[in-house]
Amino acid sequence: MNTTKPILVTGGAGFIGSHLCKSLVTKGQDVLCLDNFYTGSVENVAELQGHDNFRLVEHDVTKTFETSVGAIYNLACPASPIHYQRDPVQTVRTSVLGAINMLDLALQMGCRIFQASTSEVYGSPEVHPQTESYNGNVNPIGPRACYDEGKRCAETLFFDYARQFELSVRVARIFNTYGPRMQPNDGRVVSNFVMQALQGAPITIYGKGMQTRSFCYVDDMVAGLEAIMNLADPVTGPINLGNPHEITMLELAETVFRLTGTKENITYLPLPPDDPPQRQPDISLAKKCLNWEPTISLEDGLTETIAYFRQLLA
Ligand code: NAD
Ligand code: UDP
Repeated sequence: MNTTKPILVTGGAGFIGSHLCKSLVTKGQDVLCLDNFYTGSVENVAELQGHDNFRLVEHDVTKTFETSVGAIYNLACPASPIHYQRDPVQTVRTSVLGAINMLDLALQMGCRIFQASTSEVYGSPEVHPQTESYNGNVNPIGPRACYDEGKRCAETLFFDYARQFELSVRVARIFNTYGPRMQPNDGRVVSNFVMQALQGAPITIYGKGMQTRSFCYVDDMVAGLEAIMNLADPVTGPINLGNPHEITMLELAETVFRLTGTKENITYLPLPPDDPPQRQPDISLAKKCLNWEPTISLEDGLTETIAYFRQLLA
């Protein structure tokens, strides 16, 4: 979707946001990237700074923001457990107040708004793979709750604004996504394993490494986010976006050793509290409504990611 007014991307200087901004700018769309640089950085969007149709503004979504925009992608929120648990109250404020502020702006502008929700709304799932109709199993007072419950409340707000004010909302439940511009030290498993392997340090596996995740390459994810925004008739509910290819953390470690050409070297550490034992998206709805599914294999995506981290270390 191209609009004559700029598209606002909150959290646009973060990992996924920077790829989304690049994709929109490349299509000729005016983009206003808003970020408070909590986990994002100017470097992530450095290559876009010279473009006439790209503008970066420093702002915190917990405060109101007034500007003229044609659509809003709301991605602002730290996504990695070590960052969202660093200041849990701020994480809740970002999810909840950020959602209200951006929804109010969308209402004022009469424009579409997209919310980056998460597979974490399913918590430690009792249903496998997770479908959108599953309501989840979240511990509301654990260390992950600031993120999980914040995102759940944001979903509530999005669908209440849709019902109460007939706002055109779109919500994606994003599953684990990886690729270039992940922060090397953000504690997520892909960045940790690749950095550790490239630096000759042991790979840290939490627990026995039998927990599963399903990893989606960032280019596939961005295509999914845009497909949701571009839908003329939005689906009245969230849509799972992720790669259904499910693997254990041990298998991920073995793949990283193979692709980096490094020797197996593993340290086992305790499993963090409330760490979900398995996670895999059911993407039937996305396939049907968006005609979307991931196309980039884990090996190809990891090869790109490893090249990015190698360059950072050079
Ligand atoms: P990220 O931490 O790289 O990006 C988040 C961005 O939001 C950063 O640039 C950060 O500075 C900014 N931000 C944080 N708080 C803000 C605030 N109060 N005001 C303005 N900006 C703020 O994370 P990411 O992986 O790019 O995630 C982007 C979005 O996708 C997040 O909403 C996240 O919850 C969601 N998501 C990501 C994943 C994943 O695997 N990466 C999975 C599920 C959901
Ligand atoms: N993990 C791991 N070693 C690490 C970092 C993470 O074994 O160095 C595990 C973590 O316990 C979890 C999985 O990898 O089971 C994915 O962790 P991540 O923080 O990337 O994402 P999330 O738990 O939010 O899905």
